Amino acid sequence: MTTAYVTHPNCLKHDMGPGHPECPDRLAAVNEAMRSSGLLEGLRTLEAPLAAVRDLERVHDPAYVQAIFASAPREGRVQLDPDTAMNSYSLDAALRAAGAGMLAVDEVIAGRASNAFCAVRPCGHHATRSSSMGFCIFNNVAVAAAHALAAHDLQRVAIIDFDVHHGNGTEDIFSAPQWRDRVLMASFFQHPFYPYSGAEGAAPNMINVPLPAHSGGAQVKAAVEQHWLPALDEFAPEMIFVSAGFDAHREDLLGGMSLIEADYEWISHRLMETARRHAQNRMVSMMEGGYNLSALGRSAVAHVKTLAEIRIP
Ligand SMILES: [Zn+2]
Repeated sequence: MTTAYVTHPNCLKHDMGPGHPECPDRLAAVNEAMRSSGLLEGLRTLEAPLAAVRDLERVHDPAYVQAIFASAPREGRVQLDPDTAMNSYSLDAALRAAGAGMLAVDEVIAGRASNAFCAVRPCGHHATRSSSMGFCIFNNVAVAAAHALAAHDLQRVAIIDFDVHHGNGTEDIFSAPQWRDRVLMASFFQHPFYPYSGAEGAAPNMINVPLPAHSGGAQVKAAVEQHWLPALDEFAPEMIFVSAGFDAHREDLLGGMSLIEADYEWISHRLMETARRHAQNRMVSMMEGGYNLSALGRSAVAHVKTLAEIRIP
């Protein structure tokens, strides 16, 4: 069985302005790295559909969803918050980024793919129930996880977040009491660092591991083995979601951690083993941050070749 690669050309057209680090070239770099490594031909490429309003409303305040639709400009650019803007393609891109994860869930549960990587933007994990934040409009991984629970009748799913920044939006959504028995979130993140959350007062379904600046592979492996894996084994998720940000890479200057490609490979292996033990291998990974184009491309290849169990030189 193959790994699905879910993406859409309109995700390349969402552009938040000159000099913005969350730029179209990021997705182009990932696509190009998949192609030039030879990995892409071993994947099943699928076009991301648009998420529907009702899909978004499982995790977002309906008034917020409506406000985003109303904000979308026909031309020019509109600023949603200090870090996040929309151009005329952004609404389509944001709906496709959310829809990608839902299609990935459907494909994996139907057995047409063993797992999936969604190469999409805008990213999602800072978007809360009722606000955009930190380059994120809709919380893509949250929409996908809620879709798996609601439309496929799963009882428990886990969300893993290895972006350098704390996934405060995902935490905001799934800390709510009605989700606590059904969603476990496990993450590490640089702390203290943007968005300055996650270190204290987390809900019981949040496994947060704040790590100091300059943490590298050894610290991350300890966090995964001591905190993530025991919690995942106890929770026994039926599907594993990944907020796959690659900005903890040592070459990424937006983050201050020191991971290398082999670390992303190691994390991905551990998650594959967990998915094998509890979740019939089901795993859906969604691109989040990563701002050094070369490191982003190489790290995404390291992650996806592990998911696909493809050996490339
Ligand atoms: Zn990030």
